[in-house]
Amino acid sequence: MAAGEAVRAGLLEHPPTVRAELCTGCTQCLLTCPAGTIERRGLKCEIIPEGCIRCGRCLTMCPNEAIREVNGPAPP
Ligand code: SF4
Ligand code: SF4
Repeated sequence: MAAGEAVRAGLLEHPPTVRAELCTGCTQCLLTCPAGTIERRGLKCEIIPEGCIRCGRCLTMCPNEAIREVNGPAPP
């Protein structure tokens, strides 16, 4: 994280989840998560919801749009 960069917690209503069928295991989400709550599981990444501060960074970082908010609005 860049020095002085503020992480806004709680932007999402629910912790997001990885749609495994779209995940390529690139680890961009894992590297950007300020809470360290994304883990590599085999060839995919997975979000551990208990540690998520709902900042939304992983959603914007994923190049494959594989991350969606659980119980959030349906994708367009
Ligand atoms: S950024 Fe997206 S494609 Fe890359 S590991 Fe995370 S969920 Fe998978
Ligand atoms: S929403 Fe933020 S805290 Fe939660 S998994 Fe994504 S990057 Fe990590």
